[in-house]
Amino acid sequence: MDYKDRYQQALMPNYECLLFDLDDTLCSLSTGFFTICTKNIEEYMVQKLGIDEKKVQEISPILYKTYGTTMAGLKAIGHDFDNDDYHSFVHGRLPYDMLKRDHVLMNLLLSLPIRKVIFSNSDEAHVTKVLSKLGLEDCFEMIICFETLNPTNKNNVDDDNINFELTCQPNGNSGLPKIPIICKPLENAFEQAFKIANINPEKTLFFDDSARNIQTAKRMGLDTVLVGKNHRTNGADYALESIHNIREALPMLWEANNKLEKVSSPRKIAIETSVEA
Ligand SMILES: [Mg+2]
Repeated sequence: MDYKDRYQQALMPNYECLLFDLDDTLCSLSTGFFTICTKNIEEYMVQKLGIDEKKVQEISPILYKTYGTTMAGLKAIGHDFDNDDYHSFVHGRLPYDMLKRDHVLMNLLLSLPIRKVIFSNSDEAHVTKVLSKLGLEDCFEMIICFETLNPTNKNNVDDDNINFELTCQPNGNSGLPKIPIICKPLENAFEQAFKIANINPEKTLFFDDSARNIQTAKRMGLDTVLVGKNHRTNGADYALESIHNIREALPMLWEANNKLEKVSSPRKIAIETSVEA
């Protein structure tokens, strides 16, 4: 280990939790799986919401980019539809058999001596199916998904801690329509996740493929890893081309339990990694 590596390790916080997005973060884009997901979303917009096909192509990426998910965007611009119906159409028809067990990732995750939590905008059925197909179902202590933050029975929600009026704005006081659901990249979604999973953001490392989610995560006090890119975007402390590079890029995570808390005032430095899988 050279001087630079030792220096980085000394400055790295002693993380208590690793918080992972699922789609396109733990599960690779290259499978073509998510191309089918995008097609299902577009079909839902045409068949169920009656949006013109050409308009769908135009607004779909804008809604996703602006609101974090296309579903949130559709609701924000006034489309009223059942959440379960949307999820079963978009995710329920996905060819899950395309996904293969990922023994390499499973071993990497199981060997990490830090608690691990999933934080996904997708519905529970999708998250559990993907984790099961990848063989990662035993790697996580908890799953925070769409239903966790948007329960059907509002009596089960800790309403005191959800302020839709103030926080469900995609860009603060941007003038854009409010989102009637809670999802990343809303700050409220992160606040809820911290509370539900008992997470201290200052001792947590967050992995996500979305630059928007990474930006909010950074504002919320998390350290961040942008996955699927070889360069850091705004708010990203690290960049990983693939989650499979995690051990080469962040070997310090495996030493979390042994690391001495000898840095009195840790300062963060950002490294950029580009390691071929
Ligand atoms: Mg994702």
